[in-house]
Amino acid sequence: MQLKTILHHIERHRSFVYGEIRLIGDAPGDLVLEVDVRPRANSRPVCSRCHRPGPGYDTLAQRRFQFVPLWGILVYFLYVMRRVHCETCGVKVEEVPWAVGRHRITTSYAWFLAGWARRLSWIDVARVFHTSGETVFRSVDMAVEWGRARMSMAGITAIGMDEILWQRGHKYLTVVYQINEECKRLLWVGQDRRTKTLLRFFQWLGRERSTLLEFICSDMWKPYLQVIAKKAGHAVHVVDRFHIMSHMSKAIDEIRAKEARRLKADGCEPVLKRTRWCLLKRPENLTERQEVTLGQLLAYNLRTVRAYLLKEDFQGFWNYVSPTWAGKFLDRWCTRTMRSRLEPMQKVARMLRRHRELILNWFRAKGTISTATVEGFHNKAKLTTRRAYGLRSSRTVEVALYHTLGKLPEPVGTHRFC
Ligand SMILES: [Zn+2]
Repeated sequence: MQLKTILHHIERHRSFVYGEIRLIGDAPGDLVLEVDVRPRANSRPVCSRCHRPGPGYDTLAQRRFQFVPLWGILVYFLYVMRRVHCETCGVKVEEVPWAVGRHRITTSYAWFLAGWARRLSWIDVARVFHTSGETVFRSVDMAVEWGRARMSMAGITAIGMDEILWQRGHKYLTVVYQINEECKRLLWVGQDRRTKTLLRFFQWLGRERSTLLEFICSDMWKPYLQVIAKKAGHAVHVVDRFHIMSHMSKAIDEIRAKEARRLKADGCEPVLKRTRWCLLKRPENLTERQEVTLGQLLAYNLRTVRAYLLKEDFQGFWNYVSPTWAGKFLDRWCTRTMRSRLEPMQKVARMLRRHRELILNWFRAKGTISTATVEGFHNKAKLTTRRAYGLRSSRTVEVALYHTLGKLPEPVGTHRFC
């Protein structure tokens, strides 16, 4: 079987033919296959602007387009680009079906790299396939653009909003997920977490689709609450468990750090050192060693411990079924916390009181929206921003997020084995 036969099976273009195929180099590590591509006799070049064929004008220098490697051998298409004398656009470079725009890699190879980029970090993909990080990014970008243009927008009735901190804690991205039971995916990413950001999301979603929203999960962040009330006031707005509990974790962290400093200044035993995780984890998730540390901690009547116990106590809230009883629990918990003299916890309690109705919506929406979805996405998104490290600009992070979490459609083709 000839290589040309295989190429005809996987990459056939009506107006072009494959010419000579050469194997260049002698060491196994640096072999290259060069494939000549020629226009079919009498075929006319296609204008890259209006996509219509026209008479040929002249030819440009030969271009190399990288194709999917074969048996560890790099493969290139070599093609002499023509210029077309287009009736409407003037003299333009022709459009070729195996690559987009000025790209020097074939679309097939771009899909191949993008597929791997979902499983490996971009840097690893570049390393493994002897290409640049820039090429990997462009491939992923192409896949995302293709998928975003063709994604289905039907059936979006439940969404969750979240924010991700990136670039060493200085910048926020607002992310919106679809959290319907039958379809969970990243819908939209926006810079910052301001009113404007969220307004842009609703603009993207469109008025008609916004009216179809039934449930919206978010944090108690003020701009979010305002925009959601304005743009989707008919939907049940839920402040979700993940965000409430992370406010409490932050409060405990604050109390712990302050108390640790105080204990150190007093010359007391540094009992709070290395205890951060014991206090933030659920008891059932502790390691044996952490369990011992927690036991020692509880023996001291520290502010940190009291805050921890308040948080643990609050876990009971989520077991309620009826919003009425949950509401009673919430009120009691808030009263107790307000008496605790633990300022960061009081702050949480005040916030919970202020948004009592939205929080109780959790119970009204129970069973309709999945509880751990936003939290799960939050962790995956954080991992993704870390994996795209090295190519960091807000746009690269955006593209990486859509690529890994967007469940975007892909063309049905041959290079899908990765
Ligand atoms: Zn044209």
